[in-house]
Formats: sequence, structure tokens, C-alpha cells
Amino acid sequence: MILPPATLGMLGGGQLGRYFVMSAHRLGYQVIVLDPDPASIAGAAADAQIVAAYDDAEALSELARRCDAITCEFENVPAASLALLEQHKPVRPAASSVRVCQDRREEKAFLTRAGVPVAPNLTLLPGEPLPALPDSLFPAILKTAREGYDGKGQWTLHQADELPAALAASGVPCVLEKRLPLEGEFALTLARSPSGAISALPLVQNWHSGGILDQTRSPANVPALEAEAQRIAEHIIAALDYVGVLTVEFFLVGGQLLVNEMAPRPHNSGHPSIDNAGCSQFELQVRALCDLPLPEQAEVCPAILLNLLGDLWQDGAPDWAAALALPGVHLHLYGKGEARPGRKMGHVTVTGREWPAVEATAHQLRALLG
Ligand code: ADP
Ligand code: MG
Repeated sequence: MILPPATLGMLGGGQLGRYFVMSAHRLGYQVIVLDPDPASIAGAAADAQIVAAYDDAEALSELARRCDAITCEFENVPAASLALLEQHKPVRPAASSVRVCQDRREEKAFLTRAGVPVAPNLTLLPGEPLPALPDSLFPAILKTAREGYDGKGQWTLHQADELPAALAASGVPCVLEKRLPLEGEFALTLARSPSGAISALPLVQNWHSGGILDQTRSPANVPALEAEAQRIAEHIIAALDYVGVLTVEFFLVGGQLLVNEMAPRPHNSGHPSIDNAGCSQFELQVRALCDLPLPEQAEVCPAILLNLLGDLWQDGAPDWAAALALPGVHLHLYGKGEARPGRKMGHVTVTGREWPAVEATAHQLRALLG
């Protein structure tokens, strides 16, 4: 067990890293962030920041020297960097797990091997002959194998003859995936500690707009799906021998859950846990990293999360005073400088004892924020 006041390392300086820092601080730990941006918002909250690229060997060895355990805020940290850190200090999740989650080809192959249902898909390499493309795969979504997020690096293709141009434009390895008629999107965030204990947050339901999370409902309140999602997620954790926080994104199609993708970390849709659960996804991340006891699955109160994208700032800052005057409103602004369209600037979580009141407030907030 790594006990406070130990120093924890965080690769990544965005909002997920920032909430990790806050949770770690509350428990009495210190945190050093490594991020190339000297103005990173996690670095601003941390005890120190090492300003360097994620693959800077000297910076990585400094991080390893100064920290007792290390984690990352997102999957686009090079797995080789995590492997390097692992030679010196505990790294959770392990490089081997992040490697699978950071490449859609590896991820799909892993899930298929593990017997977990996924959307029909094919791997494609630019410059190589196209494999036979069944018509049943269209309409489809072409996704870059690496580095995609918030719907970036994705193109909808209605028929096979659109593929060569799209693949050439991407210029990188891709996965072509059937676009499915989704009946719903769900996510499950859970943690496993090095000792093997597992703790899950409730299943949440998500609504996206333009590939970016727009709204989350926690808990989703669908017991049969929740049990199935938990079974699948625990199967994945066992197959990966995973340690840390993992989020599994699900599609509901024909009444069945398919796995869309996995995130080896806390997730935007897990943010309600900051305000509606006894132990947030970020505290779970700290506890799993340090091998502290994990909490029993606790009751959560109804919550609706609305993401605040940069678009909202088009005509100046939204009316926060009016938003904060509504009951059960928890405003989270991440302290990012420029409000660009599509950029996640913050979120609001509305909590309450009963759903109708939470829904009514979320509705008012929407009207207020435009
Ligand atoms: P990201 O890494 O950007 O989150 P995802 O693969 O999760 O990429 O895609 C973002 C969103 O796009 C999904 O949450 C879903 O709303 C939509 N989407 C992605 N793949 C499919 C698909 N095969 N069928 C239908 N919708 C999809
Ligand atoms: Mg996703």
C-alpha cells in the first residue's frame, strides 16, 4: 500500500488529470504532473509539473525518481513510456493494458478473442489493397486506429466506393466499422486494485452530439443491462489482468450490449460520481493506484450531467449566476483559457433526491445555457 503523503505521478495535464490531483490532495498525497504544455490545467493544480513531451526519456526518469507510483489521464500516452516507467516504479494501469486501449485494431482484436461482442469491422491500411467489402458493412464509419477522441478522426461512409478516397485522406491505419442503429449508449466505470478488489460505479446512459458527449444520466436505472455490463466489464478486466480505473463504452443494439471501446482511465461520463457518489471515479483512481481499500458499490442519487463546450461562449460567458441559483446545480469549470467550439470547458451536474426535480432543473439549465 502506498500511503499519504507519498508522491504520485500523473502523465497528462488536462481536466481528468486535474480531478485526479484534487482527489489525491484530499487524501493527503502530493502529485507531479508531466505534460508538454507549461500552462496545463492539471499542472496548475499539482505540487509540481515537469514540462516535457511524453516520450522524453530524461523527463520520464525524473518523474520515476520523484514519484512513488504513476498513472496516466488518457490512453494516448505512448505505451513505451509507461513500459519505461514500469522498470522503476508501480505504473497502473500497466503499459500492456494501455497498449490495447490506445489502438482500435488491438482493442477490437482483444475483445473478439475474449468473446466480447463488437460492431462488425475490418482493419484497413492506406496504400494496401482493399479486402473484400461486404455491402452489409455499409453505411459505415471509418475511424483512425489511434489518437481519435470526441468523434475526431472519424468519417461516415454511405457506400463502399467512398472508401478509397477517405482512407487516402486519413493516411493512417484505420478501422472500418458498421454504423449501427443504436437504441442507446451506456458506460460502466470500474476500478480494480492490485490486491484484486473490484468496485464499480453504476451504469450510466449517454447521449452524444456530433461524436461528443452531450448528456449523461447516472444511474441509468436499467438493472438487467447493468448486470450484463458488469459481467462483460469484469470479464475484460480479468482478460487484461487490469489494475486501475477502466471505463467500458457500450452500444445497445437489438436489445444486446456490444462494446464500443474501452478507456483505461476515468471518463467524461463518470463525472457525475464527483457529486452523486460517496467515492468519485477519481478517488477510485487514487485508491486503485495506491492499493487502498476500494469502497463497496454505494447508492448514488439521481444526477444529470450536461457538458459545457466552447460553443457556449460564442456571445460571452454564460450566465453562471442564474445557473447556480437553480437547486442541485454543481458547476465545474476546468480553467481552460480559450473557449474554442467543441472544446470541453466544463460540465454541470444536477443532483437531487427524485428524478422529476433533477429533470426539470436540467431542462431549465439547457434553456439558460442555450
Ligand atoms: P471516440 O473515441 O471519439 O469516443 P467512438 O468510437 O466512441 O469514438 O465514437 C464516438 C461516438 O460516435 C459514439 O459514442 C457514438 O455515438 C458514435 N458512433 C461510433 N461508432 C458508431 C457505430 N459503429 N454506429 C453508430 N454510432 C457510432
Ligand atoms: Mg467513445
